[in-house]
Amino acid sequence: MRVNAYAAPAAGQPLAPTTIERREVGANDVLIDIEYAGICHSDIHTVNGDWGPQPFPLVPGHEIVGRVTEVGSGVSRHQVGDRVGVGCMVNSCGECDRCASGDEQYCVQGMVGTYAATDRDGTTTQGGYSTHVVVDADHVLSIPESLDAAAATPLLCAGITTYSPLKHWNAGPGKKVAVVGLGGLGHMAVQIAHAMGAEVTVLSQSLKKQEDGLRLGADHYFATSDPDTFEALAESFDLVINTVSARIDVSAYLGLLDVNGALVNVGAPAEPLDVNVFALLSNRRSFSGSMIGGIAETQEMLDFCAEHGIASEVEVIRADQVNEAYERVLASDVRYRFVIDASTLD
Ligand code: NAP
Ligand code: ZN
Repeated sequence: MRVNAYAAPAAGQPLAPTTIERREVGANDVLIDIEYAGICHSDIHTVNGDWGPQPFPLVPGHEIVGRVTEVGSGVSRHQVGDRVGVGCMVNSCGECDRCASGDEQYCVQGMVGTYAATDRDGTTTQGGYSTHVVVDADHVLSIPESLDAAAATPLLCAGITTYSPLKHWNAGPGKKVAVVGLGGLGHMAVQIAHAMGAEVTVLSQSLKKQEDGLRLGADHYFATSDPDTFEALAESFDLVINTVSARIDVSAYLGLLDVNGALVNVGAPAEPLDVNVFALLSNRRSFSGSMIGGIAETQEMLDFCAEHGIASEVEVIRADQVNEAYERVLASDVRYRFVIDASTLD
């Protein structure tokens, strides 16, 4: 099946319209008519070559929502007409200990990314900036009908990437959580941590988005450009979630942690980060990372968001605005996720 898509022809080049081939619907596959595809900063890192060489031409997009239009003979989990979603992962071995325990993103054989990855059949995956996609049914999520389709789209990456560490590190009543960076991931982290019952602080470069941050559920909002912030908040958090797409001064943020506190990095800048170990020794602090979340946990997050009336604040764009949107994300000028209306690809 030949379908319309937007692809980067080479590293750092603007995206342009193209067509790509989607595989035939196999016994355990579903065919999805894509409604929306979110723009994650990871798409930009990948296209720009921040994370190394990639298989070009490359169709990004790992926040996908649409309707099922065909299912394989062996599929019982999804039906034609269902609203479904696909996140960062389209396959995994399904047999290793990690897959068995719901951590498919850490599959021993390697999870198969939604784009720029080699699928288990040897083909290269292509992402959601496209009209249709064929995905293994076990890696397709159900989108609760109460969620708006466009606003639910970023949950497939930004939502799960923040929900998973917030849950793992026990964000909840009595816990003080700071979210560094109020972008796509950050604005989901604030809403989810607030819904979990934690006391939430936003640490943004400036106070420009303070009103939004407080409206999204933050209790406090500070500018990291103000050196007083690091003194005022010293040793005060149980958990700091760093969503920044660029290098940060890790040791300065470790200084904000109370005894046993953890700084969890979900931001994925190209360059290594430096750590002053004395900032770790003091207060028995941890510095950790977390990558998306498993399939069952992603479904749990979607249901949690529906239950709490949480979704992303999105700016819906046409496919031909994608390059402009990339520039705006790089300038931290996004409130708070761009989502491509896939009907503009027809
Ligand atoms: P985004 O929408 O661009 O948000 C990043 C935010 O970081 C910006 O809004 C800005 O917030 C802050 N920021 C940007 N540049 C900065 C700088 N030079 N110094 C300080 N703060 C800066 O990006 P996103 O889509 O949320 O993704 C964030 C990062 O997470 C990316 O690196 C992405 O690749 C990564 N990611 C990781 C995973 C995972 O599984 N771990 C999943 C998805 C994405 P303020 O304006 O509030 O300061
Ligand atoms: Zn992403």
